[in-house]
Amino acid sequence: MIDVNLIRKIAILRKSFKKVPQIRKKKVNDISKNGKTKEKVCRTIHQYNKESIAKEDMAQLKQIAKSYQIVKNYIYCRYGGIHSLSKITPGYEVQKELIAQGYREQINLPSVYFQNAIYDALGDIRGALEKCKKKILKSIYSNENMSEDDRHYLNYVLRVDQALFPILEHKNIVIPKKLEKSYIELSEKVDTNKLNNYLRRQYRKHSVKLHTEINTVFSVDYRGYRYENHGIYLASSVKMKRVFIPLTDTITTDRQIVVKLDIDNQSIELLVPINVAVKKHEDYVNEVGIAPGIETMLTTDNGNSYGIDYGKLQESYSIWLRETSRKRSLNTKENQGYKKYNANKHKQKEKIQNYINHEVKRLIETEKPKIIYIPKLPQNTRLVYGKNINYKLLTWQRSMIYDSIEKKCQQNAIELVWVLAEGTAKTCSRCGFKWDNTTKVRVKEKDNNKEKVSDIIKCPACGLEIHERQNTAINAKSRGQQKSGINKNLKRINT
Ligand SMILES: [Zn+2]
Repeated sequence: MIDVNLIRKIAILRKSFKKVPQIRKKKVNDISKNGKTKEKVCRTIHQYNKESIAKEDMAQLKQIAKSYQIVKNYIYCRYGGIHSLSKITPGYEVQKELIAQGYREQINLPSVYFQNAIYDALGDIRGALEKCKKKILKSIYSNENMSEDDRHYLNYVLRVDQALFPILEHKNIVIPKKLEKSYIELSEKVDTNKLNNYLRRQYRKHSVKLHTEINTVFSVDYRGYRYENHGIYLASSVKMKRVFIPLTDTITTDRQIVVKLDIDNQSIELLVPINVAVKKHEDYVNEVGIAPGIETMLTTDNGNSYGIDYGKLQESYSIWLRETSRKRSLNTKENQGYKKYNANKHKQKEKIQNYINHEVKRLIETEKPKIIYIPKLPQNTRLVYGKNINYKLLTWQRSMIYDSIEKKCQQNAIELVWVLAEGTAKTCSRCGFKWDNTTKVRVKEKDNNKEKVSDIIKCPACGLEIHERQNTAINAKSRGQQKSGINKNLKRINT
């Protein structure tokens, strides 16, 4: 995925530097010998130090990370409010203000890190603003006292910053000529005073104050590092002195990287975006339908399952979350063990992520697909979940599964087709009979002479007995092949 923020940041930084060395120019496509362009996709890899990092070097890095955090929190605090909204994009003004004020010298952070911290924090503020707008939109559409005209007006204002920011700030609106006509048309039909007040109230309700506790992470672009001698040189706050860290591999990049410190273990982790060539597999010729599930992560149309431990894994995670949050709420000493909790949580998340990636990889290598058809769940699907499973958690994980599939498909030149999910789980894949909860028949299995409900369903019309998810996968595949239920706008939705 292309990091839009990163590109924007780079563009901004480029402008502030008159001369950019030619070799730094980012190449998205390489021309190979026969003149054909080789497709590339961006992937993040992890790099590690080869030997323990010396104490004084770690102290240097720690200092950078700490100052990075201070700058970010300062930006959140100073530019996160209503009156700075117009400054956060594109951000030169913020940078100029801080430099004029001598803030960088105060903090004593090398300018490469300083700039990154600024744009990092501004990016977060923008992100928070977008989230806030989404929440406001949601309450607008669930508010029954709103007329259609009210909604149109508010919707418009939320989308046009030149209108939104002055309203929030109680200032006069100066709409660009191009948009003026539609603005006037919309505002004539409604009580703008009332609606603007509503908007301000909603903003106050949904906007959040940002703050970061993370003081072991910073990002740096090509001006702050150099790959050489089987390692990386990182700029430090001592002039002309760079911290050298030998690495376990020789991969290099010229893009922005993220440095994560593990102080206790005297080690670091680098998150490095690199372009990798798309692998084309001559033997990947199959068309595969897949269905995601709660217990078994993915089931294919030929009945193969991947991620059979997925349900257990996420259940144990949600139990852990619940238990710890209960214990933490009982714990009177505030923030006790906060770091430990976060580290633990991170580890658990990573475990699930790794499991998902591993199983998606196994699916791709086993099924050798040319095309994958997958049902796209509509937003806010009300599936029947077990009581213990946190809905939010599930949707977060589902989006992780989709991300993983998308990424793997890009890397392996596999076409990914999203089909409408509606009905794929409730239609017989052989005869097309549509069942509902009253006509659905589950085949009962005998387990130690005890009857238990299985995943096998039986079509009341034609008698087909089939695994429920496999049935869904077959339907997804045939829907995709018939091109019914597909349209160009049907990308994926983060459910
Ligand atoms: Zn049937």
